[in-house]
Amino acid sequence: MDKAKFLGMNHGTASNRLKVKLLYQLAWQLGLTLCYRCGKGIDNADVFSIDHKQTWLNVDKKLFWDLNNVAFSHKKCNSAAASKEYQTSKTKCPKGHEYTESNTKINKDGWRRCRQCANNNAKEYIRKRRLNNKNYR
Ligand SMILES: [Zn+2]
Ligand SMILES: [Zn+2]
Repeated sequence: MDKAKFLGMNHGTASNRLKVKLLYQLAWQLGLTLCYRCGKGIDNADVFSIDHKQTWLNVDKKLFWDLNNVAFSHKKCNSAAASKEYQTSKTKCPKGHEYTESNTKINKDGWRRCRQCANNNAKEYIRKRRLNNKNYR
């Protein structure tokens, strides 16, 4: 029987998981299993991830390897931050409006909103409501 069959998963995946488990245990013994992003405890190796404080992608690959830039976090905190960073790295909204200072609204979660789209949506909403009103009369 080959390794993958015996393990029930790809050998590379299994090795990686083993390393994460090992690292989690060491971190736990050192009292380092607090999430860098939300500050709460990380309960087990399944939700534990190795995170980067400063984004390295498209910035500097040294940041990827810099141990001072590495922290532990919940998997979901890590991926939420990653998608947020991906969003903020974009310079245009999904409709193609530029994220200029005057066209950008930051909501309370720190996400950017396109003002032009918000205005269009509001206008569209009013237009539809008017149409509906006409139909009702
Ligand atoms: Zn967290
Ligand atoms: Zn827009």
